[in-house]
Amino acid sequence: MEEFWTSITEHIPRLLLALVVLLLGWFLARVISKAVFVVLARTSLEEWAGRRLGVKTGGKYGHRVERIVAEPLEVHAPELDAKARSERVADALQRVGLDESLRSRFPHQLSGGQAQRVAIARALIVNPKVLVCDEAVAALDGSVRQQILDLLRREQAATGLAIVFISHDLAVVRSISHRVMVLYLGRLVELADGEGIFRQPRHPYTRALLDAVPVPDPIAPGGKLSLGGEMPSIINPPSGCVFHPRCRFVETRCRIQLPRARSIGGASVACHRAEELEL
Ligand code: SF4
Repeated sequence: MEEFWTSITEHIPRLLLALVVLLLGWFLARVISKAVFVVLARTSLEEWAGRRLGVKTGGKYGHRVERIVAEPLEVHAPELDAKARSERVADALQRVGLDESLRSRFPHQLSGGQAQRVAIARALIVNPKVLVCDEAVAALDGSVRQQILDLLRREQAATGLAIVFISHDLAVVRSISHRVMVLYLGRLVELADGEGIFRQPRHPYTRALLDAVPVPDPIAPGGKLSLGGEMPSIINPPSGCVFHPRCRFVETRCRIQLPRARSIGGASVACHRAEELEL
C-alpha cells in the first residue's frame, strides 16, 4: 500500500503538467477556431456583399461626409487610389442630388433629408445589385419623404437596382412597391403585386393591416377587421398558423397545422381558408 502511494506521489507533478498542457491546448483550439471562423465569414460575406448588396445604414457620427461615403470602398475596392476614391464619392453624391460642398460636413450639420441621401450614397457607391432600405423615410417630413422616394425610383429606373424596402407605412409601401410581401412573426403571410394586395387582400392579417390605416374623415366608418390581442412571442410562436390567436376566422386545423403559402389568383397566401374568405 505504501509503495502504491509513493508511486502516486511521484507522478503527481507529471499529471499536473499534463493537465495544464491539455487545458492550454483546448483554450488555443477555441481561440484559433473562432479567429479562423471570423476571417472566413468576413471574407465570404465581403466578397458577396461587395458585388451584390448595398445596405443603407444611418450616418456615422464623428466622421465627415466624404469619409462616410467613401468607407465601403476601403473594403470593396481597396485597389483605388485617393484620387479615384474621391471621384467615386463625387459621383455618388451627385447621384443622390447632394452638393459637393457637403463633403466636409459632419452628420450633425446635415438636415434629415441630406443625412438620408448621404446614407443612400454610401450604399450606392459600390454599385450594388440590391439595396436594402429599412424604414428609410420613417423619420422624414412629407415633402422630404417624397424626394427620397423619387430618388430611389430614379435610381432603380436608371440602373435596374432591386430595392428591398422595409416599412410599416402602407402609403409609402403602396407608392413605391412593385411587389409587396406581408410578414407576421417573421413568416410570410401574403405576397402579391403592389396594387393587387391593396385592392384585394387575401389573408386576414393583411386585411386587418389595411383596415388599421387611419382615414382623414372623423365620421368615416372603421375598417371591417380590427385586430385584437397581443403579438405573441417570436421565440415561442403559437402552434399551427402563428396568426390563429388573433384571427376571427380560426378553426380547429388552424391551431394544429401550419398553412403553407400557395398560389391564389396571382398572389401567394399562407392561410388554410384563403379561397373561401371574403375579406
Ligand atoms: S389559417 Fe386560420 S387562423 Fe390562420 S389566418 Fe387563415 S383562417 Fe386565420
